[in-house]
Amino acid sequence: MSKAIQVSETGGPEVLQLVELDAPPPGPGQLLIDVAAAGVNYIDTYHRSGAYPLELPFVPGREGAGTVRAVGEGVDGFAPGDRVAWADAAGGYAEAAVIPAHAALRVPDGVDDETAAAVPLQGLTAHYLVTSTYPIAEGDTVLVHAAAGGVGLLLVQLAKARGARVIGTVSTVDKEKLAREAGADEVIRYTEVDFAERTRELTGGRGVAAVYDGVGATTFDGSLASLRKRGTLALFGAASGPVPPVDPQRLNKAGSVFLTRPTLAHHIDEPAELAWRAGELFDAVTSGALTVRIGGRYQLAEARRAHEDLQGRRTTGKLLLLPRS
Ligand code: NDP
Repeated sequence: MSKAIQVSETGGPEVLQLVELDAPPPGPGQLLIDVAAAGVNYIDTYHRSGAYPLELPFVPGREGAGTVRAVGEGVDGFAPGDRVAWADAAGGYAEAAVIPAHAALRVPDGVDDETAAAVPLQGLTAHYLVTSTYPIAEGDTVLVHAAAGGVGLLLVQLAKARGARVIGTVSTVDKEKLAREAGADEVIRYTEVDFAERTRELTGGRGVAAVYDGVGATTFDGSLASLRKRGTLALFGAASGPVPPVDPQRLNKAGSVFLTRPTLAHHIDEPAELAWRAGELFDAVTSGALTVRIGGRYQLAEARRAHEDLQGRRTTGKLLLLPRS
Protein backbone atom coordinates (compact mmCIF):
# COMPACT_ATOMS: atom_id res chain seq x y z
CA MET A 1 0.00 0.00 0.00
CA SER A 2 1.13 3.56 -0.53
CA LYS A 3 -0.26 6.98 0.26
CA ALA A 4 -1.89 9.09 -2.42
CA ILE A 5 -4.24 12.02 -2.80
CA GLN A 6 -7.50 11.02 -4.41
CA VAL A 7 -10.37 13.02 -5.88
CA SER A 8 -13.66 11.06 -5.68
CA GLU A 9 -15.91 14.04 -6.42
CA THR A 10 -14.97 17.32 -8.06
CA GLY A 11 -15.09 20.54 -6.08
CA GLY A 12 -12.98 22.86 -3.93
CA PRO A 13 -9.60 22.04 -2.36
CA GLU A 14 -11.41 20.02 0.36
CA VAL A 15 -12.05 17.19 -2.12
CA LEU A 16 -8.30 16.37 -2.09
CA GLN A 17 -8.33 13.36 0.27
CA LEU A 18 -5.37 11.37 1.58
CA VAL A 19 -5.94 7.64 0.97
CA GLU A 20 -3.97 4.37 0.90
CA LEU A 21 -3.85 2.66 -2.49
CA ASP A 22 -2.18 -0.44 -3.90
CA ALA A 23 0.76 0.54 -6.08
CA PRO A 24 -0.09 -1.44 -9.23
CA PRO A 25 2.66 -3.25 -11.14
CA PRO A 26 3.73 -1.28 -14.23
CA GLY A 27 1.94 -2.43 -17.38
CA PRO A 28 3.56 -2.77 -20.81
CA GLY A 29 5.52 0.37 -21.65
CA GLN A 30 5.16 1.76 -18.13
CA LEU A 31 7.43 2.59 -15.18
CA LEU A 32 6.59 2.34 -11.48
CA ILE A 33 8.20 5.29 -9.70
CA ASP A 34 8.93 6.00 -6.05
CA VAL A 35 7.97 9.67 -6.10
CA ALA A 36 10.43 11.99 -4.36
CA ALA A 37 8.61 15.22 -5.25
CA ALA A 38 5.42 16.00 -7.14
CA GLY A 39 4.87 19.31 -8.91
CA VAL A 40 1.71 21.28 -8.17
CA ASN A 41 0.38 23.07 -11.24
CA TYR A 42 -2.58 25.24 -12.01
CA ILE A 43 -4.01 22.53 -14.27
CA ASP A 44 -4.37 20.32 -11.16
CA THR A 45 -6.93 22.83 -9.85
CA TYR A 46 -8.90 22.62 -13.12
CA HIS A 47 -8.93 18.79 -12.84
CA ARG A 48 -9.95 18.98 -9.16
CA SER A 49 -12.79 21.45 -9.82
CA GLY A 50 -14.05 19.59 -12.88
CA ALA A 51 -13.30 22.53 -15.23
CA TYR A 52 -11.24 19.97 -17.19
CA PRO A 53 -13.20 16.75 -16.50
CA LEU A 54 -11.38 13.49 -15.68
CA GLU A 55 -12.89 10.12 -14.94
CA LEU A 56 -13.50 9.73 -11.18
CA PRO A 57 -11.90 8.75 -8.91
CA PHE A 58 -8.42 9.94 -9.87
CA VAL A 59 -5.07 10.78 -8.32
CA PRO A 60 -4.22 14.34 -9.39
CA GLY A 61 -0.83 15.66 -10.46
CA ARG A 62 0.80 15.73 -13.88
CA GLU A 63 4.45 16.11 -12.90
CA GLY A 64 7.11 14.77 -10.59
CA ALA A 65 10.51 13.23 -10.08
CA GLY A 66 11.71 10.10 -8.36
CA THR A 67 13.40 6.73 -8.74
CA VAL A 68 12.30 3.85 -10.97
CA ARG A 69 11.18 0.91 -8.78
CA ALA A 70 10.07 -1.43 -11.58
CA VAL A 71 9.82 -1.43 -15.36
CA GLY A 72 6.99 -2.91 -17.43
CA GLU A 73 7.24 -5.25 -20.38
CA GLY A 74 8.83 -3.82 -23.51
CA VAL A 75 10.47 -0.85 -21.81
CA ASP A 76 13.91 -0.07 -23.22
CA GLY A 77 16.39 2.33 -21.75
CA PHE A 78 15.20 2.47 -18.13
CA ALA A 79 16.05 0.19 -15.20
CA PRO A 80 15.23 0.09 -11.48
CA GLY A 81 17.23 2.74 -9.64
CA ASP A 82 17.23 5.28 -12.51
CA ARG A 83 16.32 8.85 -11.56
CA VAL A 84 13.59 10.28 -13.76
CA ALA A 85 11.27 13.26 -14.00
CA TRP A 86 8.11 13.75 -16.04
CA ALA A 87 5.56 16.27 -17.21
CA ASP A 88 2.08 15.60 -18.42
CA ALA A 89 1.55 12.08 -17.01
CA ALA A 90 -1.22 11.33 -14.53
CA GLY A 91 -1.13 10.45 -10.84
CA GLY A 92 1.81 12.37 -9.36
CA TYR A 93 0.29 13.24 -5.95
CA ALA A 94 1.38 9.91 -4.49
CA GLU A 95 4.23 7.97 -2.90
CA ALA A 96 4.20 5.70 -5.97
CA ALA A 97 3.15 6.56 -9.53
CA VAL A 98 2.88 4.56 -12.74
CA ILE A 99 3.82 6.62 -15.80
CA PRO A 100 4.37 5.81 -19.49
CA ALA A 101 8.08 5.31 -20.16
CA HIS A 102 7.89 7.67 -23.15
CA ALA A 103 7.06 10.53 -20.74
CA ALA A 104 10.11 9.87 -18.54
CA LEU A 105 13.07 12.23 -18.68
CA ARG A 106 16.45 11.13 -17.41
CA VAL A 107 17.57 13.48 -14.61
CA PRO A 108 21.16 14.63 -15.08
CA ASP A 109 23.65 14.13 -12.24
CA GLY A 110 23.87 17.33 -10.28
CA VAL A 111 20.15 18.10 -10.54
CA ASP A 112 18.47 17.24 -7.24
CA ASP A 113 15.03 15.61 -7.00
CA GLU A 114 13.19 18.79 -6.03
CA THR A 115 14.62 20.78 -8.92
CA ALA A 116 13.98 17.85 -11.27
CA ALA A 117 10.31 17.82 -10.23
CA ALA A 118 10.03 21.60 -10.48
CA VAL A 119 11.30 22.02 -14.04
CA PRO A 120 9.33 19.80 -16.45
CA LEU A 121 5.78 21.11 -16.75
CA GLN A 122 6.27 24.83 -16.24
CA GLY A 123 9.73 24.77 -17.84
CA LEU A 124 8.61 22.96 -20.99
CA THR A 125 5.68 25.37 -21.19
CA ALA A 126 7.89 28.45 -20.93
CA HIS A 127 10.25 26.87 -23.48
CA TYR A 128 7.61 26.20 -26.15
CA LEU A 129 6.05 29.63 -25.63
CA VAL A 130 9.30 31.53 -26.36
CA THR A 131 10.62 29.18 -29.06
CA SER A 132 7.50 28.06 -30.94
CA THR A 133 4.32 29.98 -30.07
CA TYR A 134 5.94 33.35 -30.56
CA PRO A 135 9.63 32.71 -31.22
CA ILE A 136 11.27 35.70 -29.57
CA ALA A 137 13.83 37.56 -31.69
CA GLU A 138 16.67 39.63 -30.24
CA GLY A 139 15.37 43.09 -29.37
CA ASP A 140 11.66 42.20 -29.13
CA THR A 141 9.70 43.65 -26.24
CA VAL A 142 7.31 41.14 -24.68
CA LEU A 143 4.80 41.23 -21.84
CA VAL A 144 4.67 38.36 -19.31
CA HIS A 145 1.70 38.22 -16.93
CA ALA A 146 2.01 36.76 -13.41
CA ALA A 147 5.75 37.13 -13.81
CA ALA A 148 6.56 35.83 -10.32
CA GLY A 149 4.50 32.64 -10.76
CA GLY A 150 5.75 29.19 -11.65
CA VAL A 151 5.62 29.59 -15.42
CA GLY A 152 6.19 33.34 -15.10
CA LEU A 153 9.64 33.30 -13.46
CA LEU A 154 10.86 30.77 -16.02
CA LEU A 155 9.32 32.68 -18.93
CA VAL A 156 11.04 35.90 -17.87
CA GLN A 157 14.42 34.18 -17.76
CA LEU A 158 14.00 32.32 -21.08
CA ALA A 159 12.74 35.48 -22.81
CA LYS A 160 15.74 37.44 -21.51
CA ALA A 161 18.07 34.68 -22.70
CA ARG A 162 16.66 35.14 -26.22
CA GLY A 163 17.45 38.84 -26.10
CA ALA A 164 14.04 40.30 -25.28
CA ARG A 165 13.19 43.35 -23.26
CA VAL A 166 10.70 41.94 -20.75
CA ILE A 167 7.82 43.74 -19.11
CA GLY A 168 6.27 41.70 -16.30
CA THR A 169 3.03 42.09 -14.38
CA VAL A 170 2.56 41.07 -10.72
CA SER A 171 0.16 41.81 -7.87
CA THR A 172 2.50 42.69 -4.97
CA VAL A 173 5.76 44.44 -4.10
CA ASP A 174 7.36 41.14 -3.04
CA LYS A 175 6.43 39.55 -6.36
CA GLU A 176 7.80 42.61 -8.17
CA LYS A 177 11.17 42.05 -6.49
CA LEU A 178 11.25 38.39 -7.63
CA ALA A 179 10.31 39.29 -11.21
CA ARG A 180 13.10 41.87 -11.34
CA GLU A 181 15.61 39.38 -9.89
CA ALA A 182 14.59 36.96 -12.67
CA GLY A 183 15.54 39.66 -15.19
CA ALA A 184 12.36 41.61 -15.94
CA ASP A 185 13.32 45.06 -17.22
CA GLU A 186 10.05 46.68 -16.19
CA VAL A 187 7.43 45.42 -13.75
CA ILE A 188 3.86 46.67 -13.57
CA ARG A 189 1.64 46.07 -10.55
CA TYR A 190 -1.45 45.31 -12.59
CA THR A 191 -3.73 45.34 -9.57
CA GLU A 192 -3.01 49.07 -9.15
CA VAL A 193 -2.12 50.35 -12.63
CA ASP A 194 -3.77 49.96 -16.04
CA PHE A 195 -1.15 47.63 -17.48
CA ALA A 196 -2.11 48.20 -21.14
CA GLU A 197 -1.73 51.97 -20.79
CA ARG A 198 1.59 51.56 -18.97
CA THR A 199 2.81 49.07 -21.59
CA ARG A 200 2.04 51.60 -24.35
CA GLU A 201 3.99 54.25 -22.43
CA LEU A 202 6.94 51.91 -21.97
CA THR A 203 7.02 51.09 -25.69
CA GLY A 204 6.69 54.64 -27.00
CA GLY A 205 3.06 53.99 -27.96
CA ARG A 206 3.96 51.06 -30.18
CA GLY A 207 2.96 48.03 -28.10
CA VAL A 208 4.72 44.70 -27.56
CA ALA A 209 5.58 41.95 -30.02
CA ALA A 210 3.93 39.30 -27.85
CA VAL A 211 1.92 38.94 -24.68
CA TYR A 212 2.24 35.66 -22.76
CA ASP A 213 -1.03 35.51 -20.83
CA GLY A 214 -1.77 32.68 -18.38
CA VAL A 215 -4.16 34.83 -16.34
CA GLY A 216 -7.06 34.92 -18.80
CA ALA A 217 -10.36 36.57 -17.88
CA THR A 218 -9.07 39.65 -16.09
CA THR A 219 -6.16 40.39 -18.44
CA PHE A 220 -7.43 39.39 -21.89
CA ASP A 221 -8.77 42.78 -23.01
CA GLY A 222 -5.68 44.60 -21.75
CA SER A 223 -3.42 42.03 -23.39
CA LEU A 224 -5.03 42.68 -26.78
CA ALA A 225 -4.64 46.42 -26.20
CA SER A 226 -0.93 45.99 -25.36
CA LEU A 227 0.07 44.45 -28.68
CA ARG A 228 1.90 46.15 -31.50
CA LYS A 229 0.45 45.78 -35.00
CA ARG A 230 0.59 42.13 -36.04
CA GLY A 231 1.66 41.15 -32.53
CA THR A 232 0.84 37.77 -30.95
CA LEU A 233 -1.35 37.09 -27.95
CA ALA A 234 -0.37 33.70 -26.55
CA LEU A 235 -3.26 32.92 -24.21
CA PHE A 236 -2.00 29.86 -22.38
CA GLY A 237 -4.08 29.74 -19.22
CA ALA A 238 -6.95 31.02 -17.15
CA ALA A 239 -5.76 31.54 -13.56
CA SER A 240 -8.41 34.26 -13.12
CA GLY A 241 -11.08 32.34 -15.06
CA PRO A 242 -11.82 31.51 -18.69
CA VAL A 243 -12.02 34.16 -21.41
CA PRO A 244 -15.52 34.57 -22.91
CA PRO A 245 -15.98 33.91 -26.64
CA VAL A 246 -14.15 36.42 -28.85
CA ASP A 247 -15.40 38.07 -32.06
CA PRO A 248 -12.57 37.63 -34.63
CA GLN A 249 -13.19 41.20 -35.77
CA ARG A 250 -11.52 42.31 -32.53
CA LEU A 251 -8.22 40.96 -33.86
CA ASN A 252 -8.55 43.23 -36.88
CA LYS A 253 -9.31 46.27 -34.73
CA ALA A 254 -6.38 45.49 -32.41
CA GLY A 255 -4.00 45.74 -35.40
CA SER A 256 -4.20 42.51 -37.40
CA VAL A 257 -2.97 40.66 -34.35
CA PHE A 258 -2.66 36.90 -33.85
CA LEU A 259 -4.48 35.06 -31.06
CA THR A 260 -3.50 31.51 -30.16
CA ARG A 261 -4.44 29.17 -27.30
CA PRO A 262 -1.57 26.68 -27.11
CA THR A 263 -1.15 23.68 -24.82
CA LEU A 264 1.90 21.73 -23.67
CA ALA A 265 0.85 18.29 -24.96
CA HIS A 266 1.00 19.50 -28.58
CA HIS A 267 4.61 20.59 -28.10
CA ILE A 268 6.07 17.44 -26.53
CA ASP A 269 4.24 14.53 -28.15
CA GLU A 270 7.12 13.82 -30.55
CA PRO A 271 9.94 12.11 -28.56
CA ALA A 272 12.61 14.18 -30.35
CA GLU A 273 10.84 17.43 -29.54
CA LEU A 274 10.43 16.48 -25.87
CA ALA A 275 14.11 15.49 -25.71
CA TRP A 276 15.18 18.78 -27.31
CA ARG A 277 13.14 20.97 -24.98
CA ALA A 278 13.99 19.00 -21.82
CA GLY A 279 17.67 18.83 -22.81
CA GLU A 280 17.87 22.61 -23.19
CA LEU A 281 16.11 23.15 -19.86
CA PHE A 282 18.23 20.73 -17.84
CA ASP A 283 21.41 22.11 -19.49
CA ALA A 284 20.36 25.62 -18.49
CA VAL A 285 19.68 24.47 -14.92
CA THR A 286 22.99 22.60 -14.70
CA SER A 287 25.00 25.55 -16.07
CA GLY A 288 23.28 27.98 -13.72
CA ALA A 289 21.71 29.92 -16.61
CA LEU A 290 18.20 29.07 -15.37
CA THR A 291 17.24 29.51 -11.73
CA VAL A 292 14.34 27.46 -10.44
CA ARG A 293 12.59 28.94 -7.44
CA ILE A 294 10.79 26.49 -5.15
CA GLY A 295 8.23 28.78 -3.55
CA GLY A 296 6.51 26.22 -1.31
CA ARG A 297 6.99 22.67 -0.03
CA TYR A 298 4.07 20.67 1.34
CA GLN A 299 3.55 17.17 2.72
CA LEU A 300 1.18 14.97 0.73
CA ALA A 301 -1.52 15.46 3.39
CA GLU A 302 -1.23 19.23 2.82
CA ALA A 303 -2.28 19.12 -0.85
CA ARG A 304 -5.44 21.01 0.05
CA ARG A 305 -3.42 23.90 1.49
CA ALA A 306 -1.18 23.93 -1.58
CA HIS A 307 -4.22 24.41 -3.83
CA GLU A 308 -5.68 27.07 -1.53
CA ASP A 309 -2.40 28.98 -1.57
CA LEU A 310 -2.02 28.70 -5.36
CA GLN A 311 -5.56 29.83 -6.10
CA GLY A 312 -5.37 32.44 -3.36
CA ARG A 313 -2.52 34.16 -5.24
CA ARG A 314 -0.24 33.69 -2.24
CA THR A 315 2.51 31.74 -4.00
CA THR A 316 5.60 32.39 -6.10
CA GLY A 317 7.61 30.02 -8.27
CA LYS A 318 7.06 26.29 -7.99
CA LEU A 319 5.03 24.42 -5.38
CA LEU A 320 6.02 20.84 -4.54
CA LEU A 321 4.39 18.02 -2.62
CA LEU A 322 6.98 15.86 -0.85
CA PRO A 323 5.29 12.46 -0.36
CA ARG A 324 8.11 11.05 1.73
CA SER A 325 8.57 13.95 4.17
P1 NDP B 1 1.19 30.54 -11.12
O1 NDP B 1 2.28 30.18 -10.20
O2 NDP B 1 1.49 31.50 -12.22
O3 NDP B 1 -0.03 31.03 -10.27
C1 NDP B 1 -1.04 31.79 -10.86
C2 NDP B 1 -0.76 33.30 -10.76
O4 NDP B 1 -1.72 33.97 -11.55
C3 NDP B 1 -0.95 33.86 -9.36
O5 NDP B 1 0.18 33.72 -8.52
C4 NDP B 1 -1.27 35.30 -9.66
O6 NDP B 1 -0.09 36.10 -9.77
C5 NDP B 1 -1.92 35.24 -11.05
N1 NDP B 1 -3.35 35.55 -10.95
C6 NDP B 1 -3.95 36.63 -11.50
N2 NDP B 1 -5.25 36.65 -11.22
C7 NDP B 1 -5.50 35.55 -10.46
C8 NDP B 1 -6.67 35.04 -9.84
N3 NDP B 1 -7.86 35.66 -9.94
N4 NDP B 1 -6.59 33.91 -9.12
C9 NDP B 1 -5.42 33.27 -9.01
N5 NDP B 1 -4.26 33.71 -9.58
C10 NDP B 1 -4.30 34.85 -10.29
O7 NDP B 1 0.59 29.21 -11.76
P2 NDP B 1 1.25 28.24 -12.85
O8 NDP B 1 2.62 28.70 -13.18
O9 NDP B 1 1.04 26.83 -12.42
O10 NDP B 1 0.31 28.46 -14.11
C11 NDP B 1 0.17 29.75 -14.70
C12 NDP B 1 -0.84 29.65 -15.83
O11 NDP B 1 -0.27 28.90 -16.87
C13 NDP B 1 -2.14 28.95 -15.44
O12 NDP B 1 -3.21 29.61 -16.05
C14 NDP B 1 -1.97 27.58 -16.04
O13 NDP B 1 -3.18 26.96 -16.33
C15 NDP B 1 -1.20 27.91 -17.28
N6 NDP B 1 -0.45 26.81 -17.87
C16 NDP B 1 -0.73 26.50 -19.17
C17 NDP B 1 -0.03 25.53 -19.82
C18 NDP B 1 -0.26 25.31 -21.26
O14 NDP B 1 0.47 24.56 -21.92
N7 NDP B 1 -1.27 25.92 -21.84
C19 NDP B 1 0.96 24.70 -19.10
C20 NDP B 1 1.23 25.16 -17.76
C21 NDP B 1 0.53 26.16 -17.16
P3 NDP B 1 -0.18 37.65 -9.28
O15 NDP B 1 -0.54 37.56 -7.82
O16 NDP B 1 1.15 38.21 -9.53
O17 NDP B 1 -1.29 38.25 -10.10
